[in-house]
Formats: sequence, C-alpha cells, structure tokens
Amino acid sequence: MNEFIKKKGRKEIFDLKPYVPGKPIEEVKRELGIDDIIKLASNENPIGPSPKGVEAVEKALAQLHFYPDSNCFYLKNRLSEILGYENENLIIGNGSDEVLKLIAETFINQGDEVVFADPSFVEYEFTAKIMGAACIKVNLKDFTHDLEAMLQAITDKTKIVYICNPNNPTGTIVTEQEMDYFMNNVPEDVLVVFDEAYVEYVEAENFASGLKYVDQGKNALVLRTFSKIYGLAALRIGYAITTKEIAQAIERVIEPFNVNMLAQVAALAAIDDHEHVKKSQNLNSEGKQYLYKEFKNLGFDYVPTEANFIFVDTHKDIQFIFNKLLQLGVIIRTGDIFGYPTYMRLTIGTKQENERLINALKAILEE
Ligand SMILES: *Cc1c(COP(=O)(O)O)cnc(C)c1O
Repeated sequence: MNEFIKKKGRKEIFDLKPYVPGKPIEEVKRELGIDDIIKLASNENPIGPSPKGVEAVEKALAQLHFYPDSNCFYLKNRLSEILGYENENLIIGNGSDEVLKLIAETFINQGDEVVFADPSFVEYEFTAKIMGAACIKVNLKDFTHDLEAMLQAITDKTKIVYICNPNNPTGTIVTEQEMDYFMNNVPEDVLVVFDEAYVEYVEAENFASGLKYVDQGKNALVLRTFSKIYGLAALRIGYAITTKEIAQAIERVIEPFNVNMLAQVAALAAIDDHEHVKKSQNLNSEGKQYLYKEFKNLGFDYVPTEANFIFVDTHKDIQFIFNKLLQLGVIIRTGDIFGYPTYMRLTIGTKQENERLINALKAILEE
C-alpha cells in the first residue's frame, strides 16, 4: 500500500476482509488438470436455471442496446400480485447482496452498531463495515440464532439486526415463537432484516416468514433472491419486501439501472416456473435424506438442514478432506472460514453428484 492510499483511502476499507467465494470449476480444471468436476460449494441449483427464465433471456437478447427499466415495473407488478403487496413495498437489487449494501448506505453512520449471528452470512459484516458500523457478533446456540442473546446485544447505538433464516452456513431456522418473542422485545427504532434466501427449501412446520412483521408495520425487511432455487445466480437479482416508508428511503440511494434487463425478464419468467421449483424442492428433499443416511454410516455428525446445503462435522482436519476431495473432482466449502475446522458446508446436489461425493469420502477415509 503506498502513501497515497494510506493517507487518502477511507479508514473503513482497511478493515475489510475480502470475500472468499466457492472455488470455481474452471479454476480447479486449470490447477489440477481434471475435467470432470462437480461443485457443491456455493448452494447453486444442481438442476440449473429455470428453463422458462432461459427462454426469456434468449428472446430478449436483441434488445441489449436499450437501457433496462430502472423501476423493474413488470417484475414488481408480478411480485406484488404473488406476495400480496404493492410495488411501493419492493426494492429490486443486483442480487440481494446489493440490497444489503443499499440498506447499509441508507441507515448506517460511522459509529453505529449492527447485530448478527456468528457464523452467518458474511455480507452483513462487509456491507455494514464499509459504512463504518461496529459489528456485534452473537454466537449461535446449538447451531441456530440465539435471539435472547441478540436482544441483550442491542444498545442505543444499534441500527440493524440481521436474522438469516434459514441460516447460512448451518441450515437452521428460528421458529415463529422465538421470532415473535424477539420482535415483541426489540426496540422500535431498530431495523430487523430477515434474510430468507433459502425460504423455498424450508420443510419445517414451525417456520414463519418475517413478512408478518412487515404486515404489522414494524421496521422489518425481508430479503429474497433468484440466485438459489430459481437458479439465476449469474444474472444477479434479488429483492426486498418492506414497509413503504423504508422502501422509499432505500430508493434514495439506488443507482438508476441497477438491475440488468436479462435479469429482469429471467426473474419474471422464473417466478412462475412452478415445475422447476417443485422439481428443485423434491430433488433437495430426497438428496437430504440420502446424505443424512450416508453421513451416519461414515460416522459424520450433521446439522439437520432446512436449506439446500448441509453443515457436517467430519471429525477430521477439513483442509485435508477438502484437498483430497478436490483431487477427486469434488469442490466443497470448508468450515474453518466459519470457525469450525472439522466441518464442511456442502450443497445438496443431484442424485449422481451426491453419490459421487459419498464415494469420494469413502475412498478418502479408507486410505
Ligand atoms: C446466497 C445468499 C444470498 C443471495 O445473494 P444474491 O446476491 O442474491 O446472489 C443472500 N443471503 C444468503 C444468506 C445467501 O446464502
């Protein structure tokens, strides 16, 4: 870092840790010279994008010379219809990551505090820190949010509390009862962000969306994405549902053409692709049961999941397992980055991918 950067760069940027993405397939191909690789590291949809979304993108390609609709009018209309809100309740972003950044830009001043669980999704820390917030991290309890401790962590300086539900990387949910208690006790002037990136995969009966608190007029915001079950991660599109007042405030910081046209048309088509959603849910559900059974056989402990990934304790050094799996063409996410050095987080794949993972693990353990 030279003197210019040291002197003139905002001090917030020096404290940021770069995001560590799941290792891309192409990179593994280059580094190891193997061709047949599966990636179970980034919670992508193993059956691919919604075919209706792909078709819409193909049809729209000839329109690339036009700027996109800066208001995402048609997508907002359809989302409003489906969810029972009005367009004024919605913010569409270049991925829900962008929406998290917009939230931070709208609310956070230097010295404010934000509260979130540890480990949880890293973007809460990243987006809040850029704006100069102090991040108060509350350890998970039994792999799930400790909402009581999170309430205790709130001070006069707290602006935002993030609740990732289901939680990434553990796949756990907070129940409706726990959430009601939290929302009844959280100060009114704290924004509560419910990140529901994996909501479509939830099977538990005692799950409830944070939308009910938006309906009650609380300072709540629910984040959803097209990156996961809809399989549109490459296009970058996600959205928030919140009160009209909060949405209006966030609109002030949004860039005019933040969501590209292909993402808008793909999302609009994918959201009504019920066949693709159903297929993805069924595959996930079956894959989950298969992997639970196999992990038990292997002597691994796992955290029961409500998402499309599983947090698994291999009881071995996970870097060792990661490297061995990589050589066999299987990419997973190591738990050490979350503070769990014997754990892995892996995406539930297709039947073939899951079987390949298990066979690879068996081979490694038998060595
Ligand atoms: C994947 C993920 C997102 C989605 O991010 P996009 O920017 O919409 O791709 C949001 N929150 C969590 C917890 C995630 O795991």
